[in-house]
Amino acid sequence: MLIDLHTHSNISDGTESPADLMMAAAGAGVDVLALTDHDQTTGWEQARAAAQRLGIGFVPGMEITCHSRQGISVHLLSYLHNPHYQPLLDELKVTRTARESRAQRIVGLLSEDFPISWELVQEHTQPGSTVGRPHIADALVSAGVVINRDEAFASMLSARSRYYVSHPAVNPVDAVRLVREAGGVPVFAHPMASARGRVVPPEDFEELIEAGLAGVEIHHRDNSAAGRRFLSGLAERHDLIVTGSSDYHGSGKPNRLGENSTDPVMLQRIVSEGTGSFASM
Ligand code: AMP
Ligand code: FE
Ligand code: FE
Ligand code: ZN
Repeated sequence: MLIDLHTHSNISDGTESPADLMMAAAGAGVDVLALTDHDQTTGWEQARAAAQRLGIGFVPGMEITCHSRQGISVHLLSYLHNPHYQPLLDELKVTRTARESRAQRIVGLLSEDFPISWELVQEHTQPGSTVGRPHIADALVSAGVVINRDEAFASMLSARSRYYVSHPAVNPVDAVRLVREAGGVPVFAHPMASARGRVVPPEDFEELIEAGLAGVEIHHRDNSAAGRRFLSGLAERHDLIVTGSSDYHGSGKPNRLGENSTDPVMLQRIVSEGTGSFASM
């Protein structure tokens, strides 16, 4: 069983529609796929219909952008939550609005030195999708400034760049609580992705677990080896769900569908804990 529980479509910063993503997953031999776009779930319906047509399993999910009190970036995966739970929707709306004005500010700064504009970024963003630096990267590629997203993230879009602007987002402890209230299963995405920047210190995991954190994504290409060992010990001590996933973004990243997989026993635990929406398998 090839079970991939973390992927993006063009509802956020992936490059394929939810239906095309499902088609690519079926082609890659994936048996069960979760769609986890950043901060919204409008791709679920299209993904579910495509999965049913293709005969593969579908798990509805989302990846919530969070910032810890110390300003550390945290991504929280949510599976099977109620997509209409208003308190969670309110937080997501705040984040998406902040993302939009922050992206405009980054583009404003970049436009002083490079031939890009907000209009050009919008040409590379599906209407209604969660906007992020990857869309700005696509505009920079089309303007001939860089050759791909990776080059943009290594230079002008890096968090250390002088063009970088941050944005407010929900605290991860609050996000864990909201996901649980919405009947969802909260799983910490790539918790030890140290190459992306500062990671949450070991002592802070306890607070997340007390708030209701269900699992940790251990098998992800961005987690360091030492980080994975720490996470395995933590999962064992607290009986956490362990997942493995690709974090596929279409042609926007080198990550390949099914490059990491989740054990069927762990998927079973997610499905039995999630009560806010349903998996089709
Ligand atoms: P943002 O959410 O706007 O801060 O941008 C972060 C997003 O950019 C993450 O969700 C990643 O998927 C994506 N990203 C980060 N680094 C890279 C990279 N080197 N190449 C392509 N996409 C990246
Ligand atoms: Fe992304
Ligand atoms: Fe992420
Ligand atoms: Zn992701």
